[in-house]
Amino acid sequence: MTRTYDVILIGGGIMGCSTAFQLARRGLKVAVLERSQIGAGSTGRSSAIIRQHYSNELTARMALHSLRVFQHFDDAVGGECGFTQTGFVVLVAAEDQPGLEANMALQRRVGIRTERLSPEALQELMPGLEVQDLVAAAYEPEGGYADPHLTVNSYADAARRLGAEIFLHTPVTAIRFQGDRVVGVSTPQGEFHAPRVVNCAGPWGRRVAAMVGLDLPINPCRVQVAFFRRPPGYEAPHPVVADFVHASYLRPETGQLTLAGLIDPAEAENTVDPERYDESVDFDFILDVGERMVRRWPAMERAESAKGYAGLYAVTPDWHPIVDELPPGSGLYICAGFSGHGFKLGPAVGLMVADMVTEVEEPTFSPHLFRFGRYGEGQPVRGQYEYSIAG
Ligand SMILES: Cc1cc2nc3c(=O)[nH]c(=O)nc-3n(C[C@H](O)[C@H](O)[C@H](O)COP(=O)(O)OP(=O)(O)OC[C@H]3O[C@@H](n4cnc5c(N)ncnc54)[C@H](O)[C@@H]3O)c2cc1C
Repeated sequence: MTRTYDVILIGGGIMGCSTAFQLARRGLKVAVLERSQIGAGSTGRSSAIIRQHYSNELTARMALHSLRVFQHFDDAVGGECGFTQTGFVVLVAAEDQPGLEANMALQRRVGIRTERLSPEALQELMPGLEVQDLVAAAYEPEGGYADPHLTVNSYADAARRLGAEIFLHTPVTAIRFQGDRVVGVSTPQGEFHAPRVVNCAGPWGRRVAAMVGLDLPINPCRVQVAFFRRPPGYEAPHPVVADFVHASYLRPETGQLTLAGLIDPAEAENTVDPERYDESVDFDFILDVGERMVRRWPAMERAESAKGYAGLYAVTPDWHPIVDELPPGSGLYICAGFSGHGFKLGPAVGLMVADMVTEVEEPTFSPHLFRFGRYGEGQPVRGQYEYSIAG
């Protein structure tokens, strides 16, 4: 069997599958090689919160584009993504209020629906919330969350329907070059040939890049989430909350559960081996995130702990991905390092990478901001007002 393709994608997470879908619909012969199963990396463990609150124009535009795809997934991609619209609120300390307002102005300029909520209006939206320390909140009525497994598998199925081939349990062990150009990859199942290869390996992105001697600043970091069963009287789903005062987030989950996690840059210090890390949740984490949740939502003092799990972020120095051709002109591309906020951008990233690989002159989303060279140039991505890992 000849395994020759136009493009090989390494990794079957949201980035690999969404890119495969976009390339296959342009008529290219595509292979996705996945070391394990679809969604086995960060994607399958994602909290999958869909918000548009970003502090630079490109990511805000990408988030809005992706929201429209999540909202109309069956038409745009096919199948289900489990998008649930709950609304999304951003809470910041009083000193960050001007930044919040400036970000909201930027979001409105690109067409995102976002409004300012007074503490009283916020309490109406989410009864029992502690609002004493807040001046106002940003509210996105269209925000919510998706089901990451459904989403990534629907992308994989849509790509297959368009002719893409997906090889599971097929780890790439080497990337082959002839001269300055990539010609394919090696796996225990044999060789695959293609003049273009995209590294979509998420937290393994650095390891895959190292196969050709590239050292990229993408660190696999262990992060945790915990579930809590809401007490009687609080059964109804609540909006997604990003609380930058207590560096934590909450989102409803089926079965009267609330999922809680941290938005704390300190999580980047927990670098691990992606092949062997503790995938269970620590007791100390449940206590810590539970305390932060109760400070914001005192009614949750009566919530019951319902376990949790750990997953991986692929963290870069500025918490933004690297999307680039490296080395330039080689046909080898990188699309990794989404630093804990990539799921919601997945639909737009697929478009960005497909445009880059097929050399579209006027791409919908230029990858220039995410070029690797920004670090050497002292030009890391910075939003106008960033708080923590919001992007
Ligand atoms: C706990 C948690 C919560 C999160 N919450 C959110 C959120 O609320 N909103 C949001 O937008 N984002 C969130 N994220 C981040 C988001 O999930 C990631 O940014 C996104 O899923 C990254 O997708 P990816 O395709 O780049 O990587 P991955 O999903 O990790 O995919 C990479 C794939 O490559 C495969 N692979 C690795 N090496 C090889 C190899 N050598 N050969 C073949 N295949 C290989 C892996 O098995 C894996 O399946 C969260 C992440 C976690 C862990």
